[in-house]
Amino acid sequence: MAKTKLSIITPVYNEEQNVGLFYSKATKVLKSIGKGYEILFIDDGSRDSTLKAIKTLQKKDKHVKFITFRRNFGKAAALSAGFEHANGDIIITMDGDLQDEPEEIPKFIAKIEEGYDLVNGWKFKRKDPLSKTIPSKFFNWLTSKMIGLNLHDFNCGFKAYRKEVVKEITLYGDMHRYIPAIAFWKGYRIAELPVKHNPRLHGKSKYGGKRLLTGFIDLMTVKYLTSYQVKPLQLFGKVGLLFILLGLVSGLYLVIEWFQGIGIGGRPLLILSVLTTLVGIQFLSIGLLGEMITSSMEQQHKSCSIKEIK
Ligand code: UDP
Ligand code: MG
Repeated sequence: MAKTKLSIITPVYNEEQNVGLFYSKATKVLKSIGKGYEILFIDDGSRDSTLKAIKTLQKKDKHVKFITFRRNFGKAAALSAGFEHANGDIIITMDGDLQDEPEEIPKFIAKIEEGYDLVNGWKFKRKDPLSKTIPSKFFNWLTSKMIGLNLHDFNCGFKAYRKEVVKEITLYGDMHRYIPAIAFWKGYRIAELPVKHNPRLHGKSKYGGKRLLTGFIDLMTVKYLTSYQVKPLQLFGKVGLLFILLGLVSGLYLVIEWFQGIGIGGRPLLILSVLTTLVGIQFLSIGLLGEMITSSMEQQHKSCSIKEIK
C-alpha cells in the first residue's frame, strides 16, 4: 500500500446523516489527487448512530479509520486525538457536517506545497446565522490585533498543516481556534485561503453564544503564552514592583507624619499602603513561580521550536 501522505481529520458529534455523505464526497476528491490518504473520523461521544455509520464505511474501505471517545469531550480534544494518531505528512482538518467543501482540499495541498506550514481556511461568505457571524467578526479582529497575525477566520475548522505543526502544538479546552496564533509565534509560515462554506443541511450546530466568553478567556491565555511564557517575571515582576513601590512611598509618608505627632491609625492611606504592598508581593511571587515553571520547560526545549538539526 502507498505510504499515507494525506490525513483528513474529521471530528463528528451526532452527525449520523452526514458521515456517509461526507465520506463519498471526500473520497471522490481524494482519489482524484492520487496520493495516499486516510480519513480519520473522531467520534466525539456521539449518542446517535454516527459510530455505526463510520464502522460500515470502514468495512468496505480501509482508508477509513476512526477513534471513538467514551463521552463527548469537545472538538479540541477530538482534534488533538486526531493529530496524535494521524500518519500523513499533510494533515487536513475539516468539519464532518459538510459545511466545509471537500472539493477545496486540493487548494490546501497546493498552498502547503508552495512552502507554507499552515493554511487557514476563510469562510468569506459564511452560511451561518448573524448571531454567529457578528461575534466571530469581532473576535477575529481582536485576535489579529492582539496576536499580530492577520487572519479573517481563526476558528475556521478547515485547515491544512505540515505534520510538524500538529505534532508540536498541544491543545486543550477550546484552544483549537488559536492554533494559528501559537504556530505563528513559534515561527511557522501561515497562509490564508478563502473557502466555500455551505449551510448545514442535516443535524444541528453544537455551538451557541456561550463561545463568546470562553473565547475571550482563551484569547487572554494565548496572548499570555505567546508574549510572556518565557519571561513571566517581566510581566508580574513589573506590576509587583510598581505596587510595592506605591506601598512603600505611601507608608513612608505616613511614618514621617507619625513622627510629627499626627495620628495615622484611622487613615485610609494606611490601608491602601498595606494593600498595595501585599498585592505587590503577590504579583512578584506569581512571577517567580512562573519563572520556575518556565525554567523547567526550558530544559525540555518546549519554549522554542527547532526547524532543523544537522
Ligand atoms: N463537533 C465535535 N464535538 C463537539 C462539537 C462539535 O466533534 O463537541 C464536530 C461536529 O460534529 C462538526 C464540527 O465539530 O463536525 C463542527 O461543529 P458544528 O458544525 O456544530 O459547529 P459550527 O459549524 O456550527 O460552528
Ligand atoms: Mg458546522
